[in-house]
Amino acid sequence: MAYLTLKGINKIYPNGFHAVHDFNLEIEKGEFIVFVGSSGCGKSTTLRMIAGLEDISKGELLINGVYANDKSPRDREIAMVFQSYALYPQMSVYDNLAFGLTLQGVDDDVIDEKVKHVAHILGLTDYLDRMPRALSGGQRQRVAVGRAIIRKVGIFLMDEPLSNLDAKQRVTMRAEIAQIHRQTGATTIYVTHDQTEAMTLADRIVIMKEGRIQQVGTPYELYFKPVNLFVAGFIGEPPMNFIRCKVQDGCVEIGGKKLNITPNLGAHAKEYEGKEIYFGFRPEAVALGQQENAYVLGANVELTEMLGDNTNVYVNIGSSNAILKVNPHDTPATDSDIVFSIPVESTYLFDAETEMVITTEELVSSAQ
Ligand code: ADP
Repeated sequence: MAYLTLKGINKIYPNGFHAVHDFNLEIEKGEFIVFVGSSGCGKSTTLRMIAGLEDISKGELLINGVYANDKSPRDREIAMVFQSYALYPQMSVYDNLAFGLTLQGVDDDVIDEKVKHVAHILGLTDYLDRMPRALSGGQRQRVAVGRAIIRKVGIFLMDEPLSNLDAKQRVTMRAEIAQIHRQTGATTIYVTHDQTEAMTLADRIVIMKEGRIQQVGTPYELYFKPVNLFVAGFIGEPPMNFIRCKVQDGCVEIGGKKLNITPNLGAHAKEYEGKEIYFGFRPEAVALGQQENAYVLGANVELTEMLGDNTNVYVNIGSSNAILKVNPHDTPATDSDIVFSIPVESTYLFDAETEMVITTEELVSSAQ
C-alpha cells in the first residue's frame, strides 16, 4: 500500500478558478517526490492541499491508507518548510528549533538532546545562541529545515525552500537537503520551478502544466522518454530543439536536406504520411561532422557561447533555429557553414497537433 495516495484531486478556488485538475499520484514511504513546472501551474496549491492548508474541492487524499481530506493540518503528521523560512525573529536558533516540541510538552532533557542532534546534522551547533537576523540566508534556511525535521513526522513538505538563496548557496543547500533525506529517510514532497533541483533531488518527478500532471517518472525517464513536447522542452538546458516539418514519403525536409525518418516513425509511418510533426533533438546529442546511423544536417553559425566545459552554438538550419552543444575546442567560427549529425536513436518526433511523442519501442529501448 502506498504511504500517500492522491486520487482525482481537484482544486477550484472560491473565485471559480480551477487550479488543479484530476491529480492522481501514489507516493511510497521514504520517496523524494518533486513537483516541478512553471510558476502558476498548481504545484503549491497541490502541496497545500496535502498539508491541509487548502480544502480539497474534489477527490481523495489518503495518508497511510486513511482518508485525510478532513483532518486538520496538525493531525496529518506533516512538517512544512516555506520559501520565507517563517522563523520567529525574537527567538534564538535554539528556541526556534525547540519551539514545536515545547508546545507538545516534551521534556526539556529530550528537547535538548534533539535540538543538539539536529543542529549537528545541519551544521548549526555554533549558532544555537544567535538570533535569526544574525544568520545568513543559507543558515536561516537550515534552521527552517531543522524545525521541520526535529519533529518525527511522516511527511516532509517543502515549497521552493531555496528560492531566497543566491546561486552558490542554492547548490550547497541542495546537496544538504539530499543528505538530510538520506539520513532521515522521511517521505518528502518538494516544490520547485527549477528543473535542475528537480533532476538532482528527486526519486520521481511530477511535471505539471496548467494544473494538470504531464508526466510522472524518474529523472532518467523524463529526460530520455518525455511523453510530450512540453516535458521534452522543460527538462534539459539548453532545451531540446524542435523543428516543425511535414512527412512526405517517410521523409522530412530540414534546411534543404531530405531525411528519411521511417526508422523513428516505425509502425506509425503510414499514419503520419502527409502530417505535420516536430523533429526534436537535444543540443548535447549532436556531433560535428558526418557520422554513421545519424541524420546529417547543414547549418550556418549565428553565435557561439563558450561556457568552459562546452560551447553553445546557435545555428540557422534553413529557416529554423537550433542550439548545438559542442566541445569548446571545436567551437566553429561565427557565420561559418557547418555540418552536424544527430544519432537516429537520439531523435524525437512529436505529433504537431496533439504535441504527444510518436514513439517506437525499439528506438526507446536502444537509447537506454
Ligand atoms: P505554483 O505553485 O505552481 O506557482 P500555485 O499553486 O500557487 O502555482 O497557483 C496555481 C494557480 O492558482 C495560479 O494561477 C494562481 O494564480 C491561482 N491561485 C492561487 N491561489 C489562489 C486563490 N487563493 N484564489 C484564486 N486563485 C488562486
